[in-house]
Amino acid sequence: MSPRTTNDEDLEVWIDQDLCTGDGICAQYVPEVFELDVDGLAYVKSEQDELLQAPGATTRFALDLLTDVVDSVKECPGECIHVRRVSDGVEVYGPEAAD
Ligand code: SF4
Repeated sequence: MSPRTTNDEDLEVWIDQDLCTGDGICAQYVPEVFELDVDGLAYVKSEQDELLQAPGATTRFALDLLTDVVDSVKECPGECIHVRRVSDGVEVYGPEAAD
């Protein structure tokens, strides 16, 4: 796996499990970042490939995964995948992102 980003343009992603339908689209698109847990909901994974089972946990991801992560945001039927800048917390992709 390529190294994850480490500068002011760092992005992190989190899932609102309250809205997740459990269809698994995100895990199909980006298995490096998303995974379904035994509860049937999607969670993000750490840089060490560990499933982060706390609701709303965030993780950074490599920029070469950005297209796939953004596709997941667009296809997510629960509209519950959020991508934000680490530096200021502004959501750049997701239901709360500016058009
Ligand atoms: S695509 Fe969205 S609704 Fe579907 S499993 Fe992933 S986070 Fe949940």
